[in-house]
Amino acid sequence: MGIVLENAILIDLDPKQVEIGSLRIDGGRIVERASSVSRQPGDEVVDCRGAVVLPGLVNGHTHLYSALAAGMPPPPQCPSNFEEVLKYVWWRLDRALDAESNEMSSRIGAIGAVRCGTTTLIDHHASPNCIRGSLDHIEKGLAEIGLRGVLCYETTDRNGPQGRDAGLEENRRYLEKCTNSQNNKFAGMAGAHASFTLEGETLDKLASLAEGFGVGVHIHVAEDPCDEEQCQAQNQTLLIDWLTGHGILRSDSILAHGTHLNEDAAKRIAGAGAMVAHCPRSNMNNAVGYAPIKSFGNHVMLGTDGIGSDMLTEAQTGWFIACHEHAGLTPSDVLNMMVASARRASAALDITLGQLTVNAAADVVITDYVPFTPIHSENLAGHVLFALGAQYIHSVIGNGKFLMRNRTITTCDESAVRRAASKISTRLWDRLAKIHS
Ligand SMILES: [Zn+2]
Repeated sequence: MGIVLENAILIDLDPKQVEIGSLRIDGGRIVERASSVSRQPGDEVVDCRGAVVLPGLVNGHTHLYSALAAGMPPPPQCPSNFEEVLKYVWWRLDRALDAESNEMSSRIGAIGAVRCGTTTLIDHHASPNCIRGSLDHIEKGLAEIGLRGVLCYETTDRNGPQGRDAGLEENRRYLEKCTNSQNNKFAGMAGAHASFTLEGETLDKLASLAEGFGVGVHIHVAEDPCDEEQCQAQNQTLLIDWLTGHGILRSDSILAHGTHLNEDAAKRIAGAGAMVAHCPRSNMNNAVGYAPIKSFGNHVMLGTDGIGSDMLTEAQTGWFIACHEHAGLTPSDVLNMMVASARRASAALDITLGQLTVNAAADVVITDYVPFTPIHSENLAGHVLFALGAQYIHSVIGNGKFLMRNRTITTCDESAVRRAASKISTRLWDRLAKIHS
């Protein structure tokens, strides 16, 4: 028994294409695409009424652990720079996380993602007082709501050798689990916080972990000038050389932000085949500057860095800031960042994401966006960046099953989950209040 989507405007970003047509979904895959597909007995038929249907979106870099931060008490003192933002806000929150808040953060983040048509998240997790099993908590929250994930634990030396070893071990454990399960839904990476909280020896261990499992390293790079400055002061070398020397620049690595990398570093990243995850709203929120996006060429994907999973808003902001910074991008360049996220997640999960093609994953977003101006492959970016927002998304299919139908989440009782999350948040914030720096 499958699902047939009829009378849709099918939008593909990879390559950019607009076509009126129908899809048939069965067994978690798109099995037919044509102007009119054949219905099978028992199929559910959805008339899309001439509205846009697009592939499930992919968040290229996020932190589900921050999902319960909305409205949390202010830090004990107002941060005056990026390092203080980490110290007074995020490193207090992550230390307060336990198993139940990890899992609930993931569940709440997943519900928010579905509502925005995002069906795969590349996540970077930290909970220093609850490391072992934490990636299972994140996976459980995502799996319950019906999403896919590429997960890692952000290894750091900021909590001493024990914390470092526990982080490395959690990555190893989860990578082994995913290697054994191979389910196209969850995969691991070798997670690292950032060079300025990692010793060279730890970077070596992360690189060898990544090598052993044939995966990339997921790490923050040059988000703020402090990363480069501390690297040069401590190691007498450029950050890009330091990371290269320690084997972090792998072809499947994700370097989040890259805000303060120069053109030479961008070339080295492209040469290695690694990707930079651009997170424009986060960069603006933390006032860390604007990444040299043009220099990264097609080695740049799009992430939210924990500010929800609304990739359409992230893309729009990515366009606005590119204009503001005279970055020389085209609207199509911004869409290509979304494509790059989908390709990276496809490679990690060994399934085609971000495309409405036969045999691709049946992760499909149904909108009620009926274009009110002509739409075709050449002006598609204009529709996506200026008109098509999450407010038009009414139903989402993940792995061939409805995750949201007519704006109601179908995989859980959303109101009950939100009420439970509020109670867990209260306990989380109570613990947070006792952590002073
Ligand atoms: Zn991040």
